[in-house]
Amino acid sequence: MKRSKIAATLILVASTLTACNQQETTQNNTNINLLPQYENRLNIYKEVTLNADLTPLSANQKQLVSLLIDASKIIDDLFWQQAFYQDKTEFLARIKDEKVRRFAEINYGPWDRLNGDKPFLSGYGEKKLGAEFYPADMSKAEFEQAEFADKKGLYSVVRRDTKGQLIAIPYSEQYSDQINRIASILEKAASFADNKAFSNYLKMRAKALRNDDYQASDFAWMDMKDNLLDVVIGPIETYEDQLFGYRAAFESYVLLKDLSWSKKLAKYAAYLPELQKGLPVTKKYKAEMPGSDADLNAYEVIYYAGHANSGGKTIAINLPNDEEVQLKKGTRRLQLKNAMRAKFDAIMLPIAEQLIVPEQRKNVTFTAFFANTMFHEVAHGLGIKNTINNKGTVRQALKEHASALEEGKADILGLYMVRQLLAKGVIDEGKLEDYYTTFLTGIFRSVRFGASSAHGKANMVRFNYFAEQGAFTQNEQGLYRVDVDKMTEAIDSLSKLILMLQGNGDYQGVDKLVKESGIVKPELAKSLAKLESANIPVDIVFKQGKKVLGLK
Ligand SMILES: [Zn+2]
Repeated sequence: MKRSKIAATLILVASTLTACNQQETTQNNTNINLLPQYENRLNIYKEVTLNADLTPLSANQKQLVSLLIDASKIIDDLFWQQAFYQDKTEFLARIKDEKVRRFAEINYGPWDRLNGDKPFLSGYGEKKLGAEFYPADMSKAEFEQAEFADKKGLYSVVRRDTKGQLIAIPYSEQYSDQINRIASILEKAASFADNKAFSNYLKMRAKALRNDDYQASDFAWMDMKDNLLDVVIGPIETYEDQLFGYRAAFESYVLLKDLSWSKKLAKYAAYLPELQKGLPVTKKYKAEMPGSDADLNAYEVIYYAGHANSGGKTIAINLPNDEEVQLKKGTRRLQLKNAMRAKFDAIMLPIAEQLIVPEQRKNVTFTAFFANTMFHEVAHGLGIKNTINNKGTVRQALKEHASALEEGKADILGLYMVRQLLAKGVIDEGKLEDYYTTFLTGIFRSVRFGASSAHGKANMVRFNYFAEQGAFTQNEQGLYRVDVDKMTEAIDSLSKLILMLQGNGDYQGVDKLVKESGIVKPELAKSLAKLESANIPVDIVFKQGKKVLGLK
């Protein structure tokens, strides 16, 4: 379809009103340009090299890594297809400015992922909430009324049949060529794996890709314990489907387990039952018993692909998502150490330079950043899952506020755990001031992803609560200082508040808290503006691949 540039612009302007048919708004031979107001967004990602020491690997293991990277590259193409309707190569070729093209690559299309998916290129309208999982002309109402097989499927796309009726097409069919190629590579990789359990998992994952049934491979993944190499690969998270959250996006992480750090982490999970008992809240809010069989490990990431590599980069994973597997085997929590380190160096330290008083900057440490991130994950296991007054699960009772409060809980109880384990001597590195100061710096980092999301609101509630309690103060230069004792008190009283809101299933209470404190107040807005003018990156992007790793 050919259209003049003017027509395309008009359609772009009108696109908030008519969100459909955006496929036709651009010509295939014109250049695509950056919208001028996005000039200052091009530097928000700092490029870091994703390197890992592969010298302990055997020749076979290196070959295996190489194959997993090959498979991941195909995964990456699949994610492009799920996220964006145009051909990736043609699209990128039409962006002449190298920096703009790189920004489009990072975003897997023309929408700024760390800015509410707003289009940053000329000729594009709003991103469809359902990405490419659903037909462009399908409304939410039509979907809800329609009846067809695998309607809410994780592993299928929705399309129209020849009569225009909605149907689900399994991924293995929709993407058959790529899927078969990935599966064959995984099978070949399995033959290079000396670890039997890992070899078995690779074969089962290949089978899962071919038949769209991942459960058996998830079980096999949870059964692997002593493998040095790992790969998380396939359609996994459903965040890309913002219309319904039903359909999973393709992604891949190639991983190398950090055995010495993993050993350190294994001992923490054992303390969960004891820490649950010590929570600063009355007995009835802590009657549930957390499992102590959590599988917690540290990894070096060797390669990111697909959804995992788009926009903001994940530094901690908790999988599998399959609830049946979770019930029988628990979950595995993966701490991605080198990616965390990269974010710490590129973002946390420069933020501390700008916003923390000079004498506390030394308290912003990688050890504390790693621990805070990790204990957040572990702390999800503490507290309460069911209300104490017959309102069902906390999740049901708190509805759309449930996730924000649960994330807020994990952050605050993570700090509680750190304090307890430091006092017991179980954590033997750093002091409380490090963990607190690093945590405060971390809030400044997180809030830059947006304060309007559920997680952003939770962050703001906590920040404002800490400010009110005097957990930190701000001097005339706008620099923040943590008060360790007052922060400890604030952590305990906020923990109590959150646990009671959860246990009581107090929807009104949470609603009020979020509305009153889930906002960015002027002093903080000023601090954030300071970070922006200092050009501190918001997130990182990887220079990665075989060459970086010294592989053939
Ligand atoms: Zn969390």
